Amino acid sequence: MQILDGKKTASDIKEDIAVEVANLLASGSKKPHLAAILVGSDGASETYVNAKVKACERVGFDSTLVRFETDVTEEELLSEIEKINNNSDIDGLIVQLPLPSHINEMKVTEAISPKKDVDGFHPENIGRMTLNSPTFLPATPAGILELLERYKVETVGKHCVIVGRSNIVGLPMSILMAQKSYPGNCTVTLTHSKTHNLKEICKTADILIVALGKAEFVTADMIKEGVCIIDVGITRVKSDKTKSGWKLLGDVAFESVKDKCSFITPVPGGVGPMTIAMLLKNTLISAKGKT
Ligand code: NDP
Repeated sequence: MQILDGKKTASDIKEDIAVEVANLLASGSKKPHLAAILVGSDGASETYVNAKVKACERVGFDSTLVRFETDVTEEELLSEIEKINNNSDIDGLIVQLPLPSHINEMKVTEAISPKKDVDGFHPENIGRMTLNSPTFLPATPAGILELLERYKVETVGKHCVIVGRSNIVGLPMSILMAQKSYPGNCTVTLTHSKTHNLKEICKTADILIVALGKAEFVTADMIKEGVCIIDVGITRVKSDKTKSGWKLLGDVAFESVKDKCSFITPVPGGVGPMTIAMLLKNTLISAKGKT
């Protein structure tokens, strides 16, 4: 079994990005600049946004964090997005999800300029991705592709089973793994909460991508020998064994499955760090005007 080490791979990618930023500056260009909007003070969202802002600093990007209280109106939020869309100094804009229920997430996603949509969630960019045209790929799926490629995981003709059909992970992943390119050329089965015989389907997977948000859901009896597992899930659970009192669990019971896999991403240290690295990569692409 080989670990797909997202922490190390993400760190390598960030080093490469830092070198590119230094080259940009040396040639007289400005620093790439990512803006993030955070609404409310949800613990997990705060952690994710802070990690993104810190990552920007480490590679030499400028970053701006715009914070709103939970009771911000949709109009105020849309007006801030418009301001950032029109600010030529800013290359990428992300709005941390989820948003409070009185705000229409789709309206917000669609308000972000597709040229600054470094999360790759705008319908225009999802359309381009679907047609295999150059665009910002959604960061988590892009991170998974990068891991498969860097570890030379064979994908051609393989059966890829995806658990979870969210717009940000499962759905785009199913499109990308079916594409006529590497990594891709898989036969894809996209599963969800209404799928019958999930266990039997998972057992036929050569590549199993799990993104449903239920800690340790996939166990050894659900997989076949030699499968490559990508565990996207992150669930924070209480623990008396860590200093913080919390630990992170994936959607896959790592200890139970590890001896049956050919490859597996750990949690933490797998897909999570790759997501941030891909967000930075998209921001760099935007800054270089190459989309
Ligand atoms: P969503 O909650 O948006 O979607 C969950 C999906 O799982 C839905 O399609 C749902 O089906 C499906 N599902 C739920 N229960 C079952 C079940 N029992 N059997 C089969 N399918 C089921 O989740 P996200 O995609 O946003 O996130 C999934 C996990 O990945 C979370 O833990 C999240 O924290 C993590 N995540 C990690 C990232 C990273 O960078 N590592 C980035 C993004 C997410 P249905 O559509 O029928 O409701």
